[in-house]
Amino acid sequence: MHKPNDATVALREGIFEYARKRLEYDPAPLDAPQTFEFLSAQAGPTVTEEGLGGLTSLKLFENVLAPATISTDHPGYLSFIPCAPTEAAKLFDLVVSASAIYGGSWMEGAGAVYAENEVLAWLAKEAGLPDSAGGVFVQGGTLGNLSALVAARHRAAQALKVMGKRKPDSWKFICSAEAHSSLKAAAAVMDVEIIKAEVGADGRLRGAAVQAALDAAGDGVFAIVATGGTTNFGIVDRLDEIGAIANANDIWFHVDGAYGLAGILADVSKPLFAGLELADSFIVDPHKWLFAPFDACALIYRNPENGRDAHTQHGEYLETLTESGDWNPSDYAYNLTRRPRGLPLWFSLATHGVGAYRKAVEHNVLLAREIADEINRRPGFSLVREPELSVVVFTRDGWTIDDYNSWSDRLLQNGIAFVVPSSHRGEPNTRFAIVNPETTFELLTQILDSMETK
Ligand SMILES: *Cc1c(COP(=O)(O)O)cnc(C)c1O
Repeated sequence: MHKPNDATVALREGIFEYARKRLEYDPAPLDAPQTFEFLSAQAGPTVTEEGLGGLTSLKLFENVLAPATISTDHPGYLSFIPCAPTEAAKLFDLVVSASAIYGGSWMEGAGAVYAENEVLAWLAKEAGLPDSAGGVFVQGGTLGNLSALVAARHRAAQALKVMGKRKPDSWKFICSAEAHSSLKAAAAVMDVEIIKAEVGADGRLRGAAVQAALDAAGDGVFAIVATGGTTNFGIVDRLDEIGAIANANDIWFHVDGAYGLAGILADVSKPLFAGLELADSFIVDPHKWLFAPFDACALIYRNPENGRDAHTQHGEYLETLTESGDWNPSDYAYNLTRRPRGLPLWFSLATHGVGAYRKAVEHNVLLAREIADEINRRPGFSLVREPELSVVVFTRDGWTIDDYNSWSDRLLQNGIAFVVPSSHRGEPNTRFAIVNPETTFELLTQILDSMETK
Protein backbone atom coordinates (compact mmCIF):
# COMPACT_ATOMS: atom_id res chain seq x y z
CA MET A 1 0.00 0.00 0.00
CA HIS A 2 1.28 3.45 -0.79
CA LYS A 3 2.19 5.62 2.14
CA PRO A 4 -0.12 8.64 2.59
CA ASN A 5 1.67 11.97 2.59
CA ASP A 6 1.80 14.31 5.57
CA ALA A 7 -1.04 16.50 4.33
CA THR A 8 -3.35 13.48 3.98
CA VAL A 9 -2.51 12.28 7.48
CA ALA A 10 -3.03 15.75 8.92
CA LEU A 11 -6.38 16.07 7.18
CA ARG A 12 -7.50 12.67 8.39
CA GLU A 13 -6.68 13.64 11.97
CA GLY A 14 -8.33 17.03 11.48
CA ILE A 15 -11.52 15.46 10.26
CA PHE A 16 -11.63 12.89 13.06
CA GLU A 17 -11.01 15.65 15.57
CA TYR A 18 -13.82 17.76 14.14
CA ALA A 19 -16.19 14.79 14.08
CA ARG A 20 -15.28 13.97 17.67
CA LYS A 21 -15.91 17.54 18.76
CA ARG A 22 -19.28 17.65 16.98
CA LEU A 23 -20.32 14.35 18.56
CA GLU A 24 -19.24 15.42 22.03
CA TYR A 25 -21.33 18.59 22.15
CA ASP A 26 -24.16 18.25 24.62
CA PRO A 27 -26.16 19.66 23.00
CA ALA A 28 -24.74 20.79 19.67
CA PRO A 29 -25.10 24.53 19.08
CA LEU A 30 -28.49 25.25 17.49
CA ASP A 31 -27.01 27.78 15.01
CA ALA A 32 -29.02 29.84 12.51
CA PRO A 33 -28.98 30.72 8.83
CA GLN A 34 -27.12 33.72 7.42
CA THR A 35 -27.75 35.68 4.25
CA PHE A 36 -26.04 34.85 0.98
CA GLU A 37 -24.21 38.18 1.15
CA PHE A 38 -22.87 37.43 4.61
CA LEU A 39 -21.68 33.97 3.64
CA SER A 40 -20.04 35.03 0.40
CA ALA A 41 -18.23 37.83 2.21
CA GLN A 42 -17.09 35.53 5.04
CA ALA A 43 -16.21 32.46 2.98
CA GLY A 44 -14.76 34.08 -0.14
CA PRO A 45 -14.19 31.92 -3.21
CA THR A 46 -14.04 28.25 -2.23
CA VAL A 47 -13.92 26.33 -5.50
CA THR A 48 -10.63 27.38 -7.04
CA GLU A 49 -8.22 26.11 -9.66
CA GLU A 50 -5.50 25.29 -7.11
CA GLY A 51 -7.69 24.16 -4.21
CA LEU A 52 -7.62 25.65 -0.72
CA GLY A 53 -6.18 22.59 0.95
CA GLY A 54 -8.04 20.26 3.29
CA LEU A 55 -7.39 21.88 6.64
CA THR A 56 -8.20 25.35 5.33
CA SER A 57 -11.43 24.05 3.83
CA LEU A 58 -12.29 22.31 7.09
CA LYS A 59 -11.70 25.51 9.07
CA LEU A 60 -13.93 27.35 6.63
CA PHE A 61 -16.66 24.81 7.22
CA GLU A 62 -16.22 24.87 10.97
CA ASN A 63 -16.03 28.63 11.37
CA VAL A 64 -18.30 29.98 8.65
CA LEU A 65 -20.56 27.37 7.09
CA ALA A 66 -21.47 25.10 10.02
CA PRO A 67 -22.62 28.00 12.26
CA ALA A 68 -24.93 29.06 9.43
CA THR A 69 -26.51 25.60 9.37
CA ILE A 70 -29.17 24.65 11.90
CA SER A 71 -28.50 21.50 13.94
CA THR A 72 -31.59 19.37 13.43
CA ASP A 73 -30.52 17.15 16.32
CA HIS A 74 -30.66 19.97 18.88
CA PRO A 75 -33.32 19.13 21.51
CA GLY A 76 -34.92 22.52 20.84
CA TYR A 77 -35.28 21.86 17.12
CA LEU A 78 -39.02 21.18 17.13
CA SER A 79 -40.14 22.39 13.69
CA PHE A 80 -41.16 20.39 10.63
CA ILE A 81 -39.88 16.94 11.60
CA PRO A 82 -36.46 17.02 13.31
CA CYS A 83 -33.77 14.38 12.89
CA ALA A 84 -32.20 13.06 16.06
CA PRO A 85 -29.90 10.13 15.27
CA THR A 86 -28.38 7.97 17.96
CA GLU A 87 -24.66 8.38 18.35
CA ALA A 88 -24.19 4.82 17.11
CA ALA A 89 -26.09 5.66 13.92
CA LYS A 90 -24.08 8.84 13.34
CA LEU A 91 -20.79 7.05 13.91
CA PHE A 92 -21.71 4.29 11.53
CA ASP A 93 -22.66 6.81 8.87
CA LEU A 94 -18.98 7.80 8.95
CA VAL A 95 -18.04 4.14 8.48
CA VAL A 96 -20.38 3.81 5.51
CA SER A 97 -18.70 6.82 3.91
CA ALA A 98 -15.26 5.40 4.58
CA SER A 99 -16.20 2.04 3.05
CA ALA A 100 -17.12 2.78 -0.59
CA ILE A 101 -20.02 0.34 -0.74
CA TYR A 102 -22.27 0.01 -3.76
CA GLY A 103 -25.67 -0.75 -2.31
CA GLY A 104 -27.57 -1.45 -5.52
CA SER A 105 -26.82 -5.12 -6.05
CA TRP A 106 -26.18 -8.30 -4.11
CA MET A 107 -23.16 -9.07 -6.27
CA GLU A 108 -21.40 -5.90 -5.19
CA GLY A 109 -22.84 -5.24 -1.76
CA ALA A 110 -24.02 -8.60 -0.37
CA GLY A 111 -22.93 -7.98 3.22
CA ALA A 112 -24.42 -4.51 3.34
CA VAL A 113 -27.60 -5.60 1.57
CA TYR A 114 -27.96 -8.48 4.01
CA ALA A 115 -27.81 -6.07 6.96
CA GLU A 116 -30.25 -3.60 5.37
CA ASN A 117 -32.65 -6.46 4.68
CA GLU A 118 -32.50 -7.52 8.32
CA VAL A 119 -33.89 -4.11 9.23
CA LEU A 120 -36.56 -4.19 6.52
CA ALA A 121 -37.63 -7.69 7.64
CA TRP A 122 -37.89 -6.47 11.22
CA LEU A 123 -40.03 -3.48 10.21
CA ALA A 124 -42.26 -5.72 8.06
CA LYS A 125 -42.73 -8.06 11.01
CA GLU A 126 -43.58 -5.24 13.41
CA ALA A 127 -46.15 -4.07 10.86
CA GLY A 128 -47.71 -7.54 10.69
CA LEU A 129 -46.74 -8.29 7.09
CA PRO A 130 -45.80 -11.83 6.01
CA ASP A 131 -42.18 -13.07 6.01
CA SER A 132 -42.04 -12.72 2.24
CA ALA A 133 -42.37 -8.92 2.50
CA GLY A 134 -39.37 -6.81 1.58
CA GLY A 135 -38.19 -3.67 -0.12
CA VAL A 136 -35.45 -1.11 -0.12
CA PHE A 137 -34.20 2.02 1.60
CA VAL A 138 -34.67 5.02 -0.69
CA GLN A 139 -33.69 8.63 -0.20
CA GLY A 140 -36.89 9.87 1.40
CA GLY A 141 -40.61 9.48 1.80
CA THR A 142 -41.32 11.42 -1.37
CA LEU A 143 -39.44 8.86 -3.42
CA GLY A 144 -40.86 6.00 -1.37
CA ASN A 145 -44.45 7.08 -1.99
CA LEU A 146 -43.75 7.56 -5.70
CA SER A 147 -42.09 4.16 -6.04
CA ALA A 148 -44.96 2.40 -4.24
CA LEU A 149 -47.58 4.12 -6.38
CA VAL A 150 -45.71 3.30 -9.58
CA ALA A 151 -45.67 -0.36 -8.52
CA ALA A 152 -49.40 -0.17 -7.71
CA ARG A 153 -50.28 1.23 -11.11
CA HIS A 154 -48.05 -1.30 -12.82
CA ARG A 155 -49.86 -4.15 -11.08
CA ALA A 156 -53.25 -2.70 -12.03
CA ALA A 157 -52.17 -2.25 -15.64
CA GLN A 158 -50.82 -5.79 -15.81
CA ALA A 159 -54.09 -7.15 -14.43
CA LEU A 160 -56.08 -5.35 -17.13
CA LYS A 161 -53.71 -6.65 -19.78
CA VAL A 162 -54.15 -10.23 -18.60
CA MET A 163 -57.92 -9.82 -18.77
CA GLY A 164 -57.62 -8.33 -22.27
CA LYS A 165 -59.15 -5.05 -21.09
CA ARG A 166 -58.29 -1.54 -22.24
CA LYS A 167 -56.51 0.95 -20.02
CA PRO A 168 -58.80 3.45 -18.29
CA ASP A 169 -58.98 6.99 -19.66
CA SER A 170 -57.19 8.14 -16.54
CA TRP A 171 -55.55 6.42 -13.61
CA LYS A 172 -56.52 7.61 -10.12
CA PHE A 173 -55.65 7.08 -6.51
CA ILE A 174 -57.61 7.99 -3.40
CA CYS A 175 -56.17 9.76 -0.36
CA SER A 176 -57.36 12.33 2.18
CA ALA A 177 -57.11 16.10 2.08
CA GLU A 178 -54.73 15.86 5.05
CA ALA A 179 -52.32 13.61 3.11
CA HIS A 180 -48.74 14.78 2.56
CA SER A 181 -47.77 17.06 -0.33
CA SER A 182 -45.50 14.35 -1.74
CA LEU A 183 -48.60 12.47 -2.94
CA LYS A 184 -49.62 15.42 -5.06
CA ALA A 185 -46.07 15.55 -6.38
CA ALA A 186 -46.22 11.83 -7.22
CA ALA A 187 -49.54 12.30 -9.02
CA ALA A 188 -48.03 15.09 -11.10
CA VAL A 189 -44.98 13.00 -12.06
CA MET A 190 -47.17 10.00 -12.89
CA ASP A 191 -49.80 12.11 -14.63
CA VAL A 192 -52.60 10.54 -12.60
CA GLU A 193 -55.60 12.02 -10.79
CA ILE A 194 -55.97 12.33 -7.03
CA ILE A 195 -59.40 11.69 -5.58
CA LYS A 196 -59.63 13.43 -2.23
CA ALA A 197 -61.75 11.60 0.33
CA GLU A 198 -63.33 13.70 3.09
CA VAL A 199 -61.83 13.47 6.57
CA GLY A 200 -63.85 13.61 9.77
CA ALA A 201 -63.85 16.62 12.09
CA ASP A 202 -60.89 14.97 13.84
CA GLY A 203 -58.87 14.97 10.61
CA ARG A 204 -59.03 11.21 10.31
CA LEU A 205 -59.88 9.37 7.10
CA ARG A 206 -62.43 6.60 7.61
CA GLY A 207 -63.79 3.71 5.60
CA ALA A 208 -67.14 5.33 4.80
CA ALA A 209 -65.48 8.34 3.17
CA VAL A 210 -63.18 6.10 1.16
CA GLN A 211 -66.14 3.99 0.03
CA ALA A 212 -67.99 7.13 -1.06
CA ALA A 213 -64.96 8.37 -2.98
CA LEU A 214 -64.53 4.99 -4.61
CA ASP A 215 -68.20 4.83 -5.63
CA ALA A 216 -67.96 8.25 -7.24
CA ALA A 217 -64.58 7.69 -8.90
CA GLY A 218 -65.55 5.41 -11.78
CA ASP A 219 -62.88 3.09 -13.14
CA GLY A 220 -59.12 3.57 -13.06
CA VAL A 221 -58.56 3.62 -9.28
CA PHE A 222 -55.27 1.77 -8.79
CA ALA A 223 -54.47 2.63 -5.16
CA ILE A 224 -55.88 3.86 -1.88
CA VAL A 225 -53.43 5.73 0.31
CA ALA A 226 -53.88 6.14 4.05
CA THR A 227 -51.61 8.17 6.29
CA GLY A 228 -50.02 6.58 9.34
CA GLY A 229 -49.42 9.81 11.21
CA THR A 230 -50.01 13.08 9.37
CA THR A 231 -47.06 15.44 9.41
CA ASN A 232 -49.09 18.36 10.75
CA PHE A 233 -50.90 16.62 13.60
CA GLY A 234 -49.80 12.99 13.79
CA ILE A 235 -53.27 11.74 12.92
CA VAL A 236 -53.49 8.07 11.96
CA ASP A 237 -56.23 7.21 9.48
CA ARG A 238 -58.49 4.20 10.12
CA LEU A 239 -56.16 1.71 8.47
CA ASP A 240 -58.41 -1.24 9.36
CA GLU A 241 -61.50 0.18 7.65
CA ILE A 242 -59.62 1.57 4.65
CA GLY A 243 -57.51 -1.54 4.17
CA ALA A 244 -60.60 -3.75 4.23
CA ILE A 245 -62.19 -1.71 1.43
CA ALA A 246 -59.03 -1.75 -0.65
CA ASN A 247 -58.60 -5.51 -0.21
CA ALA A 248 -62.27 -6.23 -1.01
CA ASN A 249 -61.97 -4.27 -4.25
CA ASP A 250 -58.57 -5.65 -5.24
CA ILE A 251 -57.07 -2.19 -5.08
CA TRP A 252 -53.53 -1.60 -3.81
CA PHE A 253 -53.44 -0.33 -0.22
CA HIS A 254 -50.50 1.94 0.55
CA VAL A 255 -49.76 3.43 3.97
CA ASP A 256 -47.69 6.60 4.14
CA GLY A 257 -46.06 6.38 7.53
CA ALA A 258 -43.01 8.53 6.77
CA TYR A 259 -43.18 10.29 10.12
CA GLY A 260 -45.64 8.40 12.29
CA LEU A 261 -45.26 4.72 11.55
CA ALA A 262 -42.49 4.39 14.12
CA GLY A 263 -45.41 4.64 16.56
CA ILE A 264 -46.03 0.90 16.02
CA LEU A 265 -43.04 0.26 18.27
CA ALA A 266 -44.66 1.56 21.46
CA ASP A 267 -47.59 -0.02 23.26
CA VAL A 268 -49.11 3.41 23.88
CA SER A 269 -49.47 4.15 20.15
CA LYS A 270 -49.50 0.74 18.48
CA PRO A 271 -53.32 0.28 18.66
CA LEU A 272 -53.76 3.31 16.38
CA PHE A 273 -52.17 1.30 13.58
CA ALA A 274 -54.58 -1.66 13.59
CA GLY A 275 -55.09 -2.67 9.96
CA LEU A 276 -51.53 -1.88 8.88
CA GLU A 277 -51.14 -5.60 8.29
CA LEU A 278 -53.53 -5.25 5.32
CA ALA A 279 -51.14 -2.98 3.42
CA ASP A 280 -49.68 -3.85 0.04
CA SER A 281 -46.92 -1.37 0.75
CA PHE A 282 -45.88 1.12 3.39
CA ILE A 283 -43.10 3.61 4.02
CA VAL A 284 -41.40 4.91 7.14
CA ASP A 285 -38.50 7.38 7.29
CA PRO A 286 -35.73 6.40 9.71
CA HIS A 287 -34.53 10.01 9.43
CA LYS A 288 -37.73 11.15 11.08
CA TRP A 289 -38.63 9.05 14.09
CA LEU A 290 -36.26 6.10 14.02
CA PHE A 291 -33.21 7.99 15.23
CA ALA A 292 -31.14 7.62 12.05
CA PRO A 293 -29.36 10.34 10.06
CA PHE A 294 -30.54 11.87 6.78
CA ASP A 295 -31.51 10.48 4.43
CA ALA A 296 -33.43 7.24 4.50
CA CYS A 297 -36.92 5.92 3.84
CA ALA A 298 -37.80 2.26 4.27
CA LEU A 299 -40.15 1.20 1.46
CA ILE A 300 -41.72 -2.20 2.05
CA TYR A 301 -43.94 -4.28 -0.21
CA ARG A 302 -46.16 -7.17 0.80
CA ASN A 303 -45.10 -8.78 -2.50
CA PRO A 304 -41.67 -7.47 -3.41
CA GLU A 305 -42.20 -8.97 -6.88
CA ASN A 306 -44.64 -6.12 -7.57
CA GLY A 307 -41.89 -3.62 -6.91
CA ARG A 308 -39.39 -5.53 -8.98
CA ASP A 309 -41.69 -5.91 -11.99
CA ALA A 310 -42.32 -2.17 -12.02
CA HIS A 311 -38.83 -0.87 -11.32
CA THR A 312 -36.08 -3.16 -12.62
CA GLN A 313 -33.96 -1.33 -15.17
CA HIS A 314 -32.77 -3.38 -18.11
CA GLY A 315 -29.66 -2.61 -20.09
CA GLU A 316 -26.83 -4.50 -21.72
CA TYR A 317 -24.37 -3.73 -18.99
CA LEU A 318 -26.87 -4.62 -16.24
CA GLU A 319 -28.14 -7.98 -17.45
CA THR A 320 -25.53 -9.93 -15.53
CA LEU A 321 -27.18 -8.52 -12.40
CA THR A 322 -30.84 -8.68 -13.38
CA GLU A 323 -30.58 -12.26 -14.61
CA SER A 324 -28.84 -13.54 -11.50
CA GLY A 325 -31.94 -14.04 -9.36
CA ASP A 326 -30.16 -12.32 -6.45
CA TRP A 327 -31.83 -9.67 -4.31
CA ASN A 328 -30.81 -6.36 -5.87
CA PRO A 329 -32.12 -3.37 -3.89
CA SER A 330 -32.09 -1.14 -6.97
CA ASP A 331 -34.88 -3.23 -8.48
CA TYR A 332 -37.43 -2.24 -5.87
CA ALA A 333 -37.73 1.51 -6.39
CA TYR A 334 -37.16 4.34 -8.79
CA ASN A 335 -33.39 4.31 -8.39
CA LEU A 336 -30.27 2.54 -9.60
CA THR A 337 -26.98 3.57 -7.97
CA ARG A 338 -27.52 3.78 -4.26
CA ARG A 339 -25.74 4.30 -0.96
CA PRO A 340 -26.59 1.55 1.56
CA ARG A 341 -28.41 4.17 3.57
CA GLY A 342 -30.10 1.64 5.81
CA LEU A 343 -26.79 0.73 7.48
CA PRO A 344 -26.66 3.48 10.14
CA LEU A 345 -30.05 2.30 11.42
CA TRP A 346 -28.98 -1.33 11.20
CA PHE A 347 -25.86 -0.68 13.25
CA SER A 348 -27.72 1.29 15.88
CA LEU A 349 -30.43 -1.37 16.16
CA ALA A 350 -27.82 -4.10 16.39
CA THR A 351 -26.06 -2.08 19.08
CA HIS A 352 -28.95 -1.01 21.27
CA GLY A 353 -31.61 -3.61 20.57
CA VAL A 354 -35.22 -3.05 19.64
CA GLY A 355 -36.25 -2.47 23.26
CA ALA A 356 -34.35 0.82 23.40
CA TYR A 357 -36.26 1.98 20.32
CA ARG A 358 -39.60 1.09 21.87
CA LYS A 359 -38.68 3.07 24.96
CA ALA A 360 -37.50 6.12 23.01
CA VAL A 361 -40.67 6.28 20.89
CA GLU A 362 -42.85 5.82 23.96
CA HIS A 363 -40.96 8.56 25.76
CA ASN A 364 -41.71 11.00 22.92
CA VAL A 365 -45.42 10.10 22.86
CA LEU A 366 -45.74 10.51 26.63
CA LEU A 367 -43.87 13.82 26.58
CA ALA A 368 -46.27 15.10 23.90
CA ARG A 369 -49.20 14.23 26.17
CA GLU A 370 -47.55 15.82 29.17
CA ILE A 371 -46.89 19.13 27.43
CA ALA A 372 -50.39 19.08 25.91
CA ASP A 373 -51.78 18.87 29.46
CA GLU A 374 -49.58 21.80 30.44
CA ILE A 375 -50.89 23.82 27.47
CA ASN A 376 -54.46 22.98 28.47
CA ARG A 377 -53.74 24.25 31.98
CA ARG A 378 -52.16 27.56 30.94
CA PRO A 379 -54.47 30.55 30.52
CA GLY A 380 -53.95 32.17 27.11
CA PHE A 381 -52.87 28.95 25.41
CA SER A 382 -55.08 26.54 23.46
CA LEU A 383 -54.43 23.14 21.98
CA VAL A 384 -55.64 22.89 18.40
CA ARG A 385 -56.08 19.13 18.85
CA GLU A 386 -55.14 16.54 21.42
CA PRO A 387 -51.91 14.90 20.25
CA GLU A 388 -52.07 11.30 19.04
CA LEU A 389 -48.40 10.63 18.41
CA SER A 390 -45.67 13.16 19.18
CA VAL A 391 -46.82 16.35 17.46
CA VAL A 392 -48.46 19.05 19.59
CA VAL A 393 -50.19 21.94 17.80
CA PHE A 394 -51.34 24.94 19.82
CA THR A 395 -52.08 28.64 19.71
CA ARG A 396 -51.17 31.59 21.87
CA ASP A 397 -54.59 33.21 22.03
CA GLY A 398 -54.85 36.46 20.11
CA TRP A 399 -51.45 36.21 18.42
CA THR A 400 -51.16 37.22 14.78
CA ILE A 401 -48.74 35.59 12.37
CA ASP A 402 -46.42 38.57 12.94
CA ASP A 403 -46.41 37.87 16.67
CA TYR A 404 -45.46 34.25 16.05
CA ASN A 405 -42.78 35.25 13.57
CA SER A 406 -41.01 37.75 15.81
CA TRP A 407 -41.17 35.38 18.79
CA SER A 408 -39.85 32.50 16.67
CA ASP A 409 -36.95 34.61 15.33
CA ARG A 410 -36.03 35.63 18.87
CA LEU A 411 -36.02 32.04 20.07
CA LEU A 412 -33.65 31.00 17.30
CA GLN A 413 -31.37 34.02 17.63
CA ASN A 414 -31.04 33.28 21.35
CA GLY A 415 -30.04 29.72 20.52
CA ILE A 416 -32.88 28.27 22.62
CA ALA A 417 -35.11 26.56 20.11
CA PHE A 418 -36.29 26.40 16.53
CA VAL A 419 -40.09 26.52 16.55
CA VAL A 420 -41.72 28.09 13.50
CA PRO A 421 -45.31 29.22 12.98
CA SER A 422 -47.73 26.95 11.20
CA SER A 423 -51.43 27.31 10.45
CA HIS A 424 -54.67 25.39 10.44
CA ARG A 425 -57.76 26.43 8.47
CA GLY A 426 -56.26 29.88 7.97
CA GLU A 427 -55.49 30.44 11.67
CA PRO A 428 -51.84 30.81 12.69
CA ASN A 429 -50.48 28.43 15.32
CA THR A 430 -47.25 26.74 16.22
CA ARG A 431 -46.27 23.16 16.81
CA PHE A 432 -43.81 20.98 18.67
CA ALA A 433 -42.70 17.93 16.67
CA ILE A 434 -41.03 15.76 19.29
CA VAL A 435 -38.79 12.99 17.96
CA ASN A 436 -35.66 13.70 19.97
CA PRO A 437 -35.20 11.62 23.15
CA GLU A 438 -33.21 14.53 24.64
CA THR A 439 -36.08 16.99 24.41
CA THR A 440 -37.35 17.57 27.93
CA PHE A 441 -40.52 18.83 29.59
CA GLU A 442 -38.42 21.60 31.15
CA LEU A 443 -37.26 22.87 27.75
CA LEU A 444 -40.81 22.80 26.38
CA THR A 445 -42.18 24.74 29.35
CA GLN A 446 -39.33 27.24 28.97
CA ILE A 447 -40.50 27.77 25.38
CA LEU A 448 -44.09 28.26 26.57
CA ASP A 449 -42.81 30.76 29.14
CA SER A 450 -41.16 32.71 26.33
CA MET A 451 -44.64 33.18 24.83
CA GLU A 452 -46.13 34.78 27.92
CA THR A 453 -45.19 38.16 26.44
CA LYS A 454 -45.08 39.14 22.78
C1 LIG B 1 -42.06 13.81 5.59
C2 LIG B 1 -43.20 13.09 4.98
C3 LIG B 1 -43.17 12.68 3.64
C4 LIG B 1 -42.01 13.00 2.75
O1 LIG B 1 -40.84 12.39 3.18
P1 LIG B 1 -39.42 12.99 2.76
O2 LIG B 1 -38.47 12.06 3.43
O3 LIG B 1 -39.37 14.38 3.31
O4 LIG B 1 -39.34 12.97 1.28
C5 LIG B 1 -44.24 11.96 3.16
N1 LIG B 1 -45.30 11.69 3.94
C6 LIG B 1 -45.37 12.07 5.23
C7 LIG B 1 -46.58 11.73 6.02
C8 LIG B 1 -44.33 12.80 5.79
O5 LIG B 1 -44.40 13.18 7.07
